[in-house]
Amino acid sequence: MDMNTMTIAKAHTALKAKEISATELVQSCIDRIENVDGVLNAVIHKSFDSALEQAKNIDQGGEFNSPLTGIPYLTKDNYNEKGVPTTACSNVLRDKVYIPPFSSTTNERLSAAGAISIGKSNTDEFTMGGSTETSCYGVTKNPWDTTRVAGGSSGGSAAGVAADECLFALGTDTGGSIRQPAAFCNCTGLRPTYGRTSRYGVMSMASSLDTIGPLCKSVEDLAIVMETISGHDPMDGTTSKNDVPQYSKALTGDIKGMKIGLPKEYFIDGMDAEVEQSVRDAVKVLEEQGAIVKEISLPHTKYATPCYYVLCPCEVSSNMARYDGIRFGHTVNGAKDLVDYYHQVRTDGFGDEVKRRIMIGTYALSAGYFDAYYRQAQKVRTLIKKDFDDAFANVDIIISPVTPGPAFTIGAYEGDPVAMYLEDIFLDSQVMAGIPALSVPCGCTKDNLPLGLQMMGPQWGEEAILRAGDAYEKATEWSGRKASL
Ligand code: GLN
Repeated sequence: MDMNTMTIAKAHTALKAKEISATELVQSCIDRIENVDGVLNAVIHKSFDSALEQAKNIDQGGEFNSPLTGIPYLTKDNYNEKGVPTTACSNVLRDKVYIPPFSSTTNERLSAAGAISIGKSNTDEFTMGGSTETSCYGVTKNPWDTTRVAGGSSGGSAAGVAADECLFALGTDTGGSIRQPAAFCNCTGLRPTYGRTSRYGVMSMASSLDTIGPLCKSVEDLAIVMETISGHDPMDGTTSKNDVPQYSKALTGDIKGMKIGLPKEYFIDGMDAEVEQSVRDAVKVLEEQGAIVKEISLPHTKYATPCYYVLCPCEVSSNMARYDGIRFGHTVNGAKDLVDYYHQVRTDGFGDEVKRRIMIGTYALSAGYFDAYYRQAQKVRTLIKKDFDDAFANVDIIISPVTPGPAFTIGAYEGDPVAMYLEDIFLDSQVMAGIPALSVPCGCTKDNLPLGLQMMGPQWGEEAILRAGDAYEKATEWSGRKASL
């Protein structure tokens, strides 16, 4: 077995038994990146020398106490890593390469456990998008069909995991950016409860929606990474002081009697037949394992995506203000005055999607429109959250498709941003409610394109969805499937 194809759990066992070394494991991922990334474009910065150096030190120490010691991973390019060029795949930071003087809490926690960051993965510019097509480094290709997108915004992370360029990868999910690419590429991905993982050191897109989470090769691996990265961080005031459960212990395989809700609003006329079938088949698998699946209603579902696309740009317009070409990033010469300088820096530095959101957000937050858009959307957000509160009074978890269809063709939505936004249709209500949701492979289309099953839990309910996801994964063959590259 090629080492780079291993799950974290398998690799840890092999490392501990000294069947493999951390250096060999890191080298196997490096070799894989060198072989396939010319086609995929998942990795936009390589940290190979420092990764091999760290692996050597770990091998000399010989201790593999944490399940993550010696495990190579990719870091999405919106995470700051000390001394490593970090651009959020935007020309505004790329042109005069930004090298952060500090690391995100998540990277720090992973390093403390001995995990090894081997490079930065591609993302839509400042994570705005669902395809990595807005990245200044160009699109990431889907390992299953390179004429298609890997999804986004964590498309580089998902393609990297699916193509075995790493053992796991870090992503961020503001409006689906972990779950959607995971589904498109056949990996597992978890958006944690808002406040479970620290956002410190990760470039903000929409601060009340952004979450930090892993993309992995199995649900068990999601649990392993979550145990290390979760928990209170004094540097992020929105992180919870709740204890972090031992997520791996939740994976008992026993879902007998678990109550699962199937929301009728997610099954609409005209939906993709293969997507619907894959979820209906998953229901059968879960029922065979003793779960009780029943139809439920989440009546405000249809407002989630419109609501997201008001609130998200509002927060984007405020968060992007810091990229002014003075404190860091792109600079220009020959500006007439300060205002002209800002204008030129931002005109050159930002791509169309970022500019579009800055304009929509600035408009929606302006004095005359604030009540009509921002305040109204916040009220609707409360109703969406209440839908989930009501539903979780009767069920333990909720399941649905992740995406309306499989990975789409590169360029399919060019010039039609609203059609692209609608790709998020199943992914925004969880964001409005701040609840956790995971994506686990659940099938493939007749063209051999992966499909994902979404499992949503109540706030702090990661254990329930990880247990159900793991039980489902072990009862099916979907997760183990690999693209031939
Ligand atoms: N497709 C969503 C958007 O464009 C997802 C973004 C995200 O989760 N970072 O906003």
